[in-house]
Amino acid sequence: LSFSSCDLPKKLQENLEAAGYEIPTPVQMQTIPAALTRRNLLVSADTGSGKTVSFLVPIVCHCTYTRLQQLADKKWPLAMVLAPTRELCVQVEDQAKALGKGLPFKTALIVGGAAMASQVYRLEQGVEMIVGTPGRLIDLLSKHDIELNRVSVLVLDEVDCMLQKGFRDQVMQIFQALSHPQVLMFSATISKEVEKMANSLTENLIYVSA
Ligand code: AMP
Repeated sequence: LSFSSCDLPKKLQENLEAAGYEIPTPVQMQTIPAALTRRNLLVSADTGSGKTVSFLVPIVCHCTYTRLQQLADKKWPLAMVLAPTRELCVQVEDQAKALGKGLPFKTALIVGGAAMASQVYRLEQGVEMIVGTPGRLIDLLSKHDIELNRVSVLVLDEVDCMLQKGFRDQVMQIFQALSHPQVLMFSATISKEVEKMANSLTENLIYVSA
């Protein structure tokens, strides 16, 4: 499998090449085609395996096609990545910006420790994807500064951590604000407990181990 056989938007193909990604990594080969057909995935893959690109490619495709077909109004996000730390969110958003260059693909970083007003302003401008930590997202939700019901792709990065005590209740609260999204979950290790929760969040889950 190559990126060019996936029938990606031309600009995305060029952005992958510009980033130096010529051959998909094993996890990308196993996840991108399934994610493009809107399947739910539970993926066990190490950091460094290329997992970020595995979920960003389907997200960029989905957002691009949705905007081009004007299937959704301009304003609210169509995709959301939840991750446990600010640093991880920054890394994901950086890669997303590189892959979405020249496409209708704007992003917002919704994390704690940064001014909420500027995040709200950014959301007001209209974005395709948000990357965030659960706490700040819940703050915005409770103030009605964000609507998540157009989010049709949800990524839980480090899902083992995201569905553990501490984050679990917040993640579930955010999940309630969504309307039947595709769910893509990634983690280096996947415990039985997390597997059970992942199955309760989604239907027809595909397991990938790369
Ligand atoms: P990740 O597993 O998402 O943390 O990615 C690890 C690193 O692999 C990142 O720095 C990416 O830039 C790089 N990477 C992702 N996909 C590819 C690819 N297909 N070819 C070469 N490098 C890649």
